[in-house]
Parts: sequence; C-alpha cells; structure tokens
Amino acid sequence: MTPTSLPSPAPAAGSGTDFDLVVIGASYAGVGIVAAAREAGFAGRIALVGDEAELPYQRPPLSKGFLLGTSAAILPLKGEPFYREAQIDLIAGRRTVAIDRPSRRVRLDDGSELGFGTLALTTGARAAALRCPGAELEGVLSLRSHDDALRLSERLGAASALVIIGGGFIGLEVAAAAIKLGKQVTVIEAGPRLIGHAVAPEISAFIHSVHAGQGVAIRLATKVERIEGEGGRVIAVICEDGTRLPCDLVLAAVGAVPNTELAMAAGLSVVDGIVVDEFCRTSDPAIFAAGDCTSHPNPFAGRQMRLSSVQNAHDQGRVVGHAVAGKEEPYRAVPWFWSDQYDVKLQMVGLANGGASVLRGSPEEGRFSLFRYEGKRLAAIESIGRPADHMMGRRLIAAGISPTPQQAADPAFDLRSLA
Ligand SMILES: Cc1cc2nc3c(=O)[nH]c(=O)nc-3n(C[C@H](O)[C@H](O)[C@H](O)COP(=O)(O)OP(=O)(O)OC[C@H]3O[C@@H](n4cnc5c(N)ncnc54)[C@H](O)[C@@H]3O)c2cc1C
Repeated sequence: MTPTSLPSPAPAAGSGTDFDLVVIGASYAGVGIVAAAREAGFAGRIALVGDEAELPYQRPPLSKGFLLGTSAAILPLKGEPFYREAQIDLIAGRRTVAIDRPSRRVRLDDGSELGFGTLALTTGARAAALRCPGAELEGVLSLRSHDDALRLSERLGAASALVIIGGGFIGLEVAAAAIKLGKQVTVIEAGPRLIGHAVAPEISAFIHSVHAGQGVAIRLATKVERIEGEGGRVIAVICEDGTRLPCDLVLAAVGAVPNTELAMAAGLSVVDGIVVDEFCRTSDPAIFAAGDCTSHPNPFAGRQMRLSSVQNAHDQGRVVGHAVAGKEEPYRAVPWFWSDQYDVKLQMVGLANGGASVLRGSPEEGRFSLFRYEGKRLAAIESIGRPADHMMGRRLIAAGISPTPQQAADPAFDLRSLA
C-alpha cells in the first residue's frame, strides 16, 4: 500500500524536518501519547511514525469479529480529522531504521530524517516465530496485523481443517471463529492447561469445556515436532508423540516478542522489553517508551514486568503524553484485559501470583468470578459473564480495598458498599 502522511507530507529522502516530539509506532500507545499530549496543552510540533499503511487501528477485533465479518474490515483508533485538527504529522507506511541519540535524529526507511526534542518508542510486539521444520510452508500463518488478518481470513474461507499451535488468548479466539465458520479445529498446547500463564486453573477448565463442547479437539502437554508439506503447502502437523494431524491451514499462536531492536541498537537498556522507569522514561531521559515494547516497574506486581494489553498501552501512552506536556505522573494504572470466545466474555483485572482463589457465582450457569488473593490482599479478579464484578474489581484493586473471602464468596454481598 502507498505510504500516507497527514496533514503534511513526509520529508523527502535525505531532507530533515524537526519536531518537538517524534513518536515511533502508531498504535494504541503511540496514539495515546499524541492525544494525551495535545489534551494536556502540548503545543509543539508532533510526528507520529508507523510502518503500517493504514490509519492506526484496533487490533483485538482481528482475532474476533474481523474473521467472522461481524466487525468492520478495519476500525480506526481515531478518524482522519483527529490528526488534522490536533496537528499531528502522521507518517504512515514508513519504518524507522535508526536513532542517532547524539544528534537527536531518527532515520526512516526512505532515507529521510526527523529531528526530535523528545522521542517516544511505541514499537509494540510481533508474533513469536514458530521454530520447527516446516514452519516456512505455505499455509502456516501467524496473526498480529491487519495484513495478517486479511491473509488468515482469506485462507480460512477455503480451509477445511485448521491446526492452531498455542492455546493462549489469540489461538483460542481464532479457534472460536473457525468453529463458527464450520471448520474442523485442533488446538495444540505445550503446557498442561489452556491460557495457563494468565488465568487460574478453574478458568482454564471452564474455557476448555466450552471449546470441547463446541467441537474443538484440544491436545494439552503436546509439542509440535514438525510440519509436513506437499508441493510447498502444509498437509499435516506432526506432534512429538508421533500423532499426525492432517490439515490445510496452521496458525502459529505461540506468543509475542517485543520490538526492541531499534532501542537496543541505540544503546538503550533492554531486558525483555525496553526498560522504563515509573514515568515511562528509558535509560536516556530524552526518550520515553510505552506499551507492549516496554518492561516497567508495576506497583501491583511489585516488580519489573512486560504487559501485552490495550489497557497498558493506552495508559502508559497517557503517562508519556502528559509528561511531554510537563505534567509528570507515575504509571499506576490497574492492569485489566478481556477475551471474547463464542458468547463467553472473560475479563481479568489485577495481577495474580498463585495465591488462594475464592469463587463467586456459578460455573454451571457460566457466570462466575474468581477472587484471587495474596494473603489477605485482593490481587486479581477473573470473571466469566460477570462484568459488574470486573468493574468493581477495577475500583477496589486501584483503591487497595480487599473484601474478606467470605464477602467475596457471597453473591448477595454488595461489593459497592466497600468502595
Ligand atoms: C489478534 C490480537 C488480539 C488481541 N486481543 C486483545 C484483547 O482482546 N484485549 C487486549 O487488551 N489486548 C489484546 N491484544 C493485544 C493488544 O492489541 C496490544 O497489547 C496492543 O496493540 C499494544 O499496543 P502498542 O501500541 O503497544 O503496540 P502495537 O499495537 O504492537 O503497535 C506497534 C506499532 O509500531 C509499529 N512499529 C514497530 N516497529 C516500528 C518501526 N521501527 N518503525 C515504525 N513503526 C514500527 C508496528 O508495526 C505497530 O504498528 C490483541 C493483540 C492481537 C494481535
């Protein structure tokens, strides 16, 4: 697609344009930064540079409504008028290839350069590569971008049997869509349960039973040995236990890798993400970073960590935008996340660390929450079909208020009385 630039054209190759703020990566975090900076009164020149050709768009629907055709082909985060009216130079379809810290310039893939007063990196993450023989065959796909989703959607239409490698959120959401499209679906998960890294065993078990009930074949504790092809096209997945799963489409949904190469080449500190402090500053005080590409000190986890969520990208973006406008505030947002599979809405708030769980509601009716504790502290709530618990959780956890386990377990107890 043709690179687009709003409202003023990208600088010609070899030329240089100076901006007070340059943001690299045009998605939730990048758009969050420029919107928050303007909202907070930042009047300087802003460039938002992204390597995708589209207007910055919503990523979560790509594994949900997009595949079913129930959401629009592309849902922009902001319409074109936003960039024009806020006077943001959106330079789309252009990759930033280098950062020169001493001269405060970045170089784009067409050779043009942008000078910056402040730089923000919001380069996000990419789908982790599948590492096994046959991963390069035609019909082995991954899902991160709109282009990936178009490819997957097109292939899915013609496919009869899909094998999904990875039983995490993206793999399971695609499984749900594929089942609705009438496909034969197998999910292979290396761990002992679905979404095991993110939710309590009870939630994994519930989600497992929903997928199994819909006809998804689930193989836990199973590793892929290789992918078999014929004429360059995938025809089967071979598991380490020798099982052969014939298929005509494979989705590799084995996690995400933060895009940190640019930061690393510029000499910034990178440890499983671009290392930032509580104000989202990198090891260079003139450079911020936000979103999936960062590793930040999270007050709810009590440690440095990387989060991959719309909430984190958007809220860190706000922190950076405000800081650029001179309103420095630490990042203290409560983490939350959601996933839609069939008609099931899973919502999570807070960060659990394996403590005791208290059940509220009824798994049999498909409406329940798990209140997860660290000692007496409510650390997280994971909800299925109980959005009110989730919303209350956001307030309670942010305020550091913990219902007793007895209160949490009693659906008649009004949690609002605590807030
Ligand atoms: C299919 C899918 C479903 C998801 N569902 C959910 C969900 O239900 N709930 C939820 O909370 N989260 C969900 N997520 C995660 C969520 O989308 C991400 O956490 C969020 O997009 C992170 O935003 P970001 O701005 O940090 O990075 P990204 O959205 O990854 O954007 C980074 C951008 O920077 C660009 N870029 C990278 N390097 C360069 C460079 N050198 N020069 C120029 N541009 C560059 C990238 O191409 C990309 O456009 C989902 C993700 C996917 C892929």
